[in-house]
Amino acid sequence: MSAQIIDGKAVSASLRQAIKAETAQLSASGTTPGLAVILVGDDPASHVYVNNKKKGCAEVGFYSEVYELPASTTQQELLALVEKLNKQENIHGILVQSPLPKHLDEEAVVLAIDPNKDVDAFHPVNVGHIMIGDYRFLPCTPAGIMELLKAVDIDPKGKECVVIGRCNIVGKPMAMLLLHAHGTVTICHSRTKDLAEVTRRADILVSAVGKAGFVTADMVKPGAVVIDVGMNRNAQNKLCGDVDFEAVKEVAGYITPVPGGVGPMTITMLLRNTLTAAKNV
Ligand code: NAP
Repeated sequence: MSAQIIDGKAVSASLRQAIKAETAQLSASGTTPGLAVILVGDDPASHVYVNNKKKGCAEVGFYSEVYELPASTTQQELLALVEKLNKQENIHGILVQSPLPKHLDEEAVVLAIDPNKDVDAFHPVNVGHIMIGDYRFLPCTPAGIMELLKAVDIDPKGKECVVIGRCNIVGKPMAMLLLHAHGTVTICHSRTKDLAEVTRRADILVSAVGKAGFVTADMVKPGAVVIDVGMNRNAQNKLCGDVDFEAVKEVAGYITPVPGGVGPMTITMLLRNTLTAAKNV
């Protein structure tokens, strides 16, 4: 039997409805959540992401400011803008779109953001909170994945959870959220020996590698939940994930599609973090 498809668009739409309702209440009591997004340079994909964030803000009733800065922007100019936004009362969340042009120090920019406005949860203070499990802001993509699991009634408690990828924005925080939810978690990466032997143990398999067709059917335990974080282009230049969807859906119990799985959840979780920030002032 074919796997149940986890519909990220539908889950995202229902969460946005809830965020919108809460925003209306908060606005009525005098605080409208505000998000500032800074984009430096002319990376086309980044422009699309920033536009989607702006649209997301409008959809739920947030105030937003988008700064589109030239690629020649200096570190000082960027830091001065972050500093201004840190002090601006109508802005509760600040996001600097990655990647920055090579001459800019991304780490220094993240460190300059007030941790109370760091809605991406990249600042070491917030990373520390995630590690402890005392969340202020949730890491957006992993938090979106936890919502997808909840939507299909999958509780990680006691389950074998395998995460492929150990980057700071997906793999590591994903492992932490699954661990806090009482999963037995294994993180795999490019030096993992016999990857398929590890992934076949997974009741919940999350792939954040960035390679089309990377997860094949023989790597998946029958009935497993397969979450595909990858956003890649295949040979036909079509958007696809890491998972060989057509083959894996014949083995898995649940699977997220690309597009329409994890992708729509990430911005929704960013909106939720911004609402949290606005409620905390
Ligand atoms: P990344 O920083 O390049 O990390 C890729 C990870 O995959 C690394 O940890 C790497 O291991 C591991 N890896 C590479 N080759 C491997 C192999 N042969 N076997 C096992 N592990 C291997 O990429 P990322 O930023 O995490 O992004 C991953 C994908 O997710 C990309 O397609 C990206 O576009 C997508 N993404 C989607 C969303 C969303 O909202 N849907 C959000 C973020 C990212 P090492 O650490 O050993 O190098």
